[in-house]
Amino acid sequence: MTEEAAINCRKAAQLLSLASDRQLSTEELQALEFHLQRCGACRNFQAQLRFLDRAAKRFASR
Ligand SMILES: [Zn+2]
Repeated sequence: MTEEAAINCRKAAQLLSLASDRQLSTEELQALEFHLQRCGACRNFQAQLRFLDRAAKRFASR
């Protein structure tokens, strides 16, 4: 992974919300994982999204 491929928090947040709409590309996933390994704030954001996603699915299945 080169320095140029590193993404910032804004981009990481975009990819995290995108991931609930469509499958991310391999490059996107790699960039996102690379960022998440280094950024606790975005890991928290990811955890929140997962919680919301589960909650939404539970609601939809009623
Ligand atoms: Zn971040």
